[in-house]
Amino acid sequence: MIKFITKKGRLELVIDPAYYEIVAGKRIKHEGKRVIFLDGKFETDDKEKIEFLLKHRYFNKVFYLQGKLNICEYCGRFFKLKASKITHEKWCEKNPNKKKRKEE
Ligand SMILES: [Zn+2]
Repeated sequence: MIKFITKKGRLELVIDPAYYEIVAGKRIKHEGKRVIFLDGKFETDDKEKIEFLLKHRYFNKVFYLQGKLNICEYCGRFFKLKASKITHEKWCEKNPNKKKRKEE
């Protein structure tokens, strides 16, 4: 699990807002997507949520990452394992020294 922390206690960030839709005369609520910090903590394995948080303007201002995430220094993708990150970086599309497969 990737853990984010905030001093605010409760913090709610909207990824996709909830909305209503009328289908056959009935009002249906779509929940939307959000991240909710409770007691100053939010833990997730959801890549979409992690990326949303890492790119959020509050990141490192209002909330922080606890511990370390292994982030590709070229493209910003994240990996749980350091070994995965290192392997990725060698082949990363944005790595200027990217290893090239031998062309013969
Ligand atoms: Zn990369």
